[in-house]
Amino acid sequence: MRSAPLPPGARRVEDATCTYCTCMCDDIALVVENNRITDVENACGLGRAWFVQPRPETAPACTIEGREATLEAGIERAAQLLAAARYPLVYGLTETTSEAQRVAAAIADWLGGTLDTGTSVGHAPSVLAIQSVGKVTCTLGEIRNRSDLIVFWGSNCIETHPRVYTKYTAMPEGMFVPRGRAGRTCVLVDVKRTKTAEAMDHFIQIKPDADFEAIWTLRALAKGISLDPADVLAQTGAPLAVWGELMERMKQAKFGAIVFGMGLMRSRGEHANCEAIFQLSRELNGFTRFVTRSIRARGNVTGGDKLVGWRTGYPYAIDFARGYPRYNPGEYTSRDVLARGEADAALVVAADPLGTFGEAAGRQLRALPYVCVGFQDNATARGALVNFATATYGIHAAGTVYRMDDVPIRLRPALASRYPSEFEVLTRLEERIRQLQAAASILPARGTPAS
Ligand code: SF4
Repeated sequence: MRSAPLPPGARRVEDATCTYCTCMCDDIALVVENNRITDVENACGLGRAWFVQPRPETAPACTIEGREATLEAGIERAAQLLAAARYPLVYGLTETTSEAQRVAAAIADWLGGTLDTGTSVGHAPSVLAIQSVGKVTCTLGEIRNRSDLIVFWGSNCIETHPRVYTKYTAMPEGMFVPRGRAGRTCVLVDVKRTKTAEAMDHFIQIKPDADFEAIWTLRALAKGISLDPADVLAQTGAPLAVWGELMERMKQAKFGAIVFGMGLMRSRGEHANCEAIFQLSRELNGFTRFVTRSIRARGNVTGGDKLVGWRTGYPYAIDFARGYPRYNPGEYTSRDVLARGEADAALVVAADPLGTFGEAAGRQLRALPYVCVGFQDNATARGALVNFATATYGIHAAGTVYRMDDVPIRLRPALASRYPSEFEVLTRLEERIRQLQAAASILPARGTPAS
């Protein structure tokens, strides 16, 4: 595409970033004609669809109770609702820029409510595990340039994050792996045979909910502990000889990487699985260089952890009711706050909790007056008391996002939008909330969440 002549009136946008998944591929080239993207280079199929079919901008920029309203009226109604709430929930921050995440965290602080992000329904177990045992890790660039053994665990990345495999890990030629895929051994450990399994050199199928047992089998083998073959087969679903062979490969690798996905979170054990895999990778450093990298699901969740962590000291599940941040997953996570009926209003930013929370918490949220700010036309947006339709980050809106390996990337939007960005809406909302609080001295009654 770069060398092909452009049609009259078309322009090229180089180094655009695809924000569809957490790979945040920033080498995308686009052709734009009449404010539409007509050609995409370097993206996978998911990324191409993301760019070519962005949300049509036909809906009103703001609605109140489902009826079109001006932005000013929407900001006023949303600010009145949130400033008067006793214990509002601010949730999401998933598919937006880190600039917008920063303002959303500030709003939760001013309101004295709860702040929770998409991490609580995604990679929370791996975040908790990092807090418990630490993590030996590196950037995707290190894996690409150095790894001669990659063990994928609980991930069908070829279908969910295609360029994890083709751009960042298994396929590319690296500085110390000049033959690319031919110079690497790739192994998948998973509960079922997926498309990713077909691309591997070795596939180890384990029993459902046996990740913990499988990882501890490897930990035992790393320490030279003898195990009973019948026990290992019964507990993991794979023979001891297979695990022994994998452990030998791991010890003999020059630079090994374990790349794991949501399978490890969804399996029995959850954060204990993640702790075990981090400990395994640490122990393997007694033999060779070994790292662990998690594949986060969608959007700028990594940025959410970074920004909320920077602003509050904690990554998610934060309560501001006492005027300072307190952290307690299981208590201040949004689903728990909703289940206890404590929240009396909510601000949802760039997320679809009604699509991800499950029936009980979803029902509680639906019963609350809430404000939604985001580019997606989803069930949460349609049920909002006040809804702001925003420009799509990366396509229409600029800002900063974080790749799954904590690398920040600046967005280069290709199209103009008639919608404001989430950052712009939230900034105006924050200003108006502060004005209302100052005028009425209605600083929240700290420590008195609604019952
Ligand atoms: Fe977009 Fe993810 Fe595909 Fe990269 S791998 S082009 S970020 S969908």
